[in-house]
This record gives sequence, C-alpha cells and structure tokens, in this order.
Amino acid sequence: MGKETRVVRLEDFEPLIGGKSIERIRKKAAKFQGFHVVNINSTYYGGGVAELLSSMTLLMNGIGIKAGWRVMQGSPDYFSITKKMHNALQGDDINLSKRKIELYEEIVEENSIRNHLGHEMVIVHDPQPLPMVKHYKKHGPWVWRCHLDMSNPNKELWNYLTPIIEKYDAVIFSLQEYQKKLETPQLFFMPAINPFSIKNKEMSEREIRERLGHYNIPTDLPLVVQVSRFDSWKDPQGVIEAFKLAQKEVKATLVLLGNVATDDPEGVEVYQSLLDSQNERIIILSVEDTALVNALQRHAAVVLQKSIREGFGLTVTEAMWKGAAVIGGNAGGIRYQIRDGENGFLVSSIEEAARRIVELIKDKRLRKNMGRKARETVKRQFLMTRLLEQYLDMFASFETIYRLR
Ligand code: UDP
Repeated sequence: MGKETRVVRLEDFEPLIGGKSIERIRKKAAKFQGFHVVNINSTYYGGGVAELLSSMTLLMNGIGIKAGWRVMQGSPDYFSITKKMHNALQGDDINLSKRKIELYEEIVEENSIRNHLGHEMVIVHDPQPLPMVKHYKKHGPWVWRCHLDMSNPNKELWNYLTPIIEKYDAVIFSLQEYQKKLETPQLFFMPAINPFSIKNKEMSEREIRERLGHYNIPTDLPLVVQVSRFDSWKDPQGVIEAFKLAQKEVKATLVLLGNVATDDPEGVEVYQSLLDSQNERIIILSVEDTALVNALQRHAAVVLQKSIREGFGLTVTEAMWKGAAVIGGNAGGIRYQIRDGENGFLVSSIEEAARRIVELIKDKRLRKNMGRKARETVKRQFLMTRLLEQYLDMFASFETIYRLR
C-alpha cells in the first residue's frame, strides 16, 4: 500500500519524538498485548471527541491493544437533552425536569441492552453515555473521560450526575483546574493531535489552492479563519463583529468554516443565525471537509478560536501545528495551549480580538515568529503519542486494583 493511504502507526512519530520515546512507549504497551478496551461516545464525526477517538483507537491497535469505539444511538429529543446538559456543565442554566431525566436514562439503558461490554476497560466520553455504568457487571475499570470546560458546572445538574460519576473507577478531565469534589480518583489529560491525518498532514501550495478554489474562497487578500462546530460557545457572532472592526483598518477576507455534529441539534440554528452577515468578504461555510480545514489553517494569515468556554480547543492545536498565528479566547484549555504574546494571543473581548487581527495582518514577521513557536509547542506537548503514553500509564495504574494482565 502506498504511504498516502497508510493508517497512522507509532513509528511514524519517530522523526518528531525520537527513537527513545518510541521504545519507551512500546515497552509500556508490551504487557497490554490483546488488552480489550472500548470507548463510547455520542457522535462518529464533528467535534473534538470523534477526532481524538478516530486516531487514538488506530494508534492503540497498532501497538497491540484491542481498542474499540461504539457510538450512542438516540432520538433527536435525547440529543436535545444531552446538548442542554453539555451546555449546563459549561455553566448554562438548565430546567432539569423529571421528563428529561427519564428520557435520558431510558435511551442510555436501551443502548446498554444492545451493547455487550465485557471489556477489560470501558472508557465513556462526556455526559451523553454517562449512566451506561449503571447497567453492567464490571469486568474491569470504567473510566469517565469528560472533555468539557468544567470551570463552573451548573450545580443542580452536577448534583444529579455526581452519584453516577462516582460509580466509575476514575475520571479524566482535560485540566487539573477542573478537579471536583468526588470520591472517584481524578486524572488530567490534555488532548492531542495526529499530525499525519488528512486534517493535519503537510499540503503543497498547489493542493491548498485547489481546495480553496473548490469552494471559491478568494485568496487576493489575507484570510482570517475560524473552524468550529456552529455552537454559541465558539462565539461565531463575536468573530464576525471583531472582523468587521478590524476591516476598518485592514483589508482581509473572513472564512467561518463549521460543521454540525450528529449529537448537536443546535448547530443548524446557530449556522442560520449567521447567514445574514455574509458578504463578499465574510464567507460562512457549512461543509464536512477535513482537507479544507487543513488548507484554511495553512493558508490563513490569522486563525481565530474565540471561544467563551472550551475544555481544550483541538482546532487551536491543529492550527498551531501548521505554524499559524492563532488568536484564542481567554478561556478553559486554550489558556494552556497559547502563551499570550509568545506563541499566539489570548483575547477577552471583541475589541481585543479586532486589535490583534489588525496587528497580525500588518506584521508578517510577528506572524511568522509566533507560528514557529506555536509549532514547537505542539511538537513538545500536544502530539498524540503523549496522550497515548498517558493512557498506557493509566492502564498500568489499575493493575493492582483489577489485576489487569
Ligand atoms: N472540525 C472539522 N470541520 C469543521 C469544524 C470542526 O473538521 O467544519 C473539527 C476540528 O478540526 C477539530 C474538531 O472538529 O478537530 C473540533 O474540536 P475542538 O476541540 O476544537 O472543539 P469541539 O467541537 O470538540 O468543542
């Protein structure tokens, strides 16, 4: 098989992390040959969790771990409730009625009947499948991996979820500062990227122009880009306003590229609410095209991720890997991805975002310098091998409790 179509493997990372690190990871994986682990989440595409799982499960299988991935099936009203829970865990209000809880728990129970999980480890992602744990006899540890910005969860929802969370053997949050008062041990793993995926791999200038041309994206002026699910936490409206302010001083084109995940029923509405702002220099695209994400992040003069809440912004790391100058919202995980003024900028308002857009568009050297440091940061901290090793260490930490292997 040609290199173009080959599935990601641990050894691909050797030029980036060195042979010693590869050996260390292999050694850690040695006692988990055939180890049977399953991940459960609520969408197979669109959003960071699906992005992480698609590469991580392949990488694990490549080193002998039987890592699987199941996706929750549910009716639109189930996903409407779970999106409300998602929002409330990030700080919104919620009307947690009996009807909502019953429907949520019922759909989860139905999924548990269909999914036979006798695995040595079960990793459940985010709130959608959380009560699955109630319906099984455990054959090994169950881990809840929460990817959300947990800085200020809604109390009522948190109180309802806490006894369910405490049925798990461990909880993983993206940041130490999301730690909660729980009886369950808590771990902290920041997400990471696969530099060899279609979304992140090198692209030639010709390939980039071809992708942009395919969507009639003009390249006569610098591009300002945000790539995100259409979700109000990503503040797409704020991006448009910041861009309009910046336009008073510099000429540029804004591209907002978004998609709608199957577990996010609010996306269409958010997308439609933006359409009135479209014009020749404000382009709003809703397409699922990972090569376009890559091309935009590579071609952009400025990449924005102006989130108001963000557990950890994969898009930030993806753009930084490509040497882009990134302006991130001063929120959640983004504050650990960007060091303000060094490898990107952090902003707390529309006006500040506008100022940084202007500054970066005017100063090519600043963009290049920041971009170079941004790529270095990702190489050091945010490649998927680091996350893989954290998982292996976690498997090993359960050995004494569950006599794994
Ligand atoms: N994404 C994409 N196409 C889009 C919008 C987003 O492929 O139009 C991807 C993006 O590249 C990233 C993921 O979806 O890999 C979003 O992850 P992130 O952590 O930034 O945010 P989440 O959606 O999980 O809140």
